[in-house]
Amino acid sequence: MLLPTPIQDLINALSRLPGIGPKTASRLTFFMLNAPDEISQDLAKALRNLKSETAYCQICFNITAAGREICEVCSNPDRDAGVICVVEEPLDVLALERTQGYKGRYHVLHGALSPIEGIGPDDLKIRELLGRVKTGQVQEVILATNPSMEGDATAMYLNKQLTSSGVRLTRLARGLPVGGDLEYADQSTLLGALAGRQEMNL
Ligand SMILES: [Zn+2]
Repeated sequence: MLLPTPIQDLINALSRLPGIGPKTASRLTFFMLNAPDEISQDLAKALRNLKSETAYCQICFNITAAGREICEVCSNPDRDAGVICVVEEPLDVLALERTQGYKGRYHVLHGALSPIEGIGPDDLKIRELLGRVKTGQVQEVILATNPSMEGDATAMYLNKQLTSSGVRLTRLARGLPVGGDLEYADQSTLLGALAGRQEMNL
């Protein structure tokens, strides 16, 4: 059966999203076709604004509102500039902020090293992190990448890169679900992992 182009276009666009196969894409498309106009209009507006109204913090690369060069954490004088918590994704920042137990700053790498997927150091915000550490303001770097193979490899790589800088290098304590994502850890587990962070050894 040939579908009208607008329907096929939306199915194709949705199919490109992670976790959505052609079947789900079709279901969502026909749902929106039959749903009140408001639903598809709200979605279209949210999608349009997603990129145009957001930006990345020029210091830590967390997400910030467009027009704001520096995020709320980086511009808050009460947040300790001497401690940088390195995470993979902006959602990890959100998870750590929810614990209300961390008063330092962040650095978002936007991924983890993965030779299989062809993601190397230059694809992440690693150079920027090394630059921040070089300023001499930093006393501790907490390597809070996910407890997965890629997250561990990234932490190990950063540990190697930063050893000569003389800063204290720590890794979140074990107890986080192995292979899991920081963003899905519950608050008390995350708080415990932060409090029990251990020195990295080469
Ligand atoms: Zn920032």
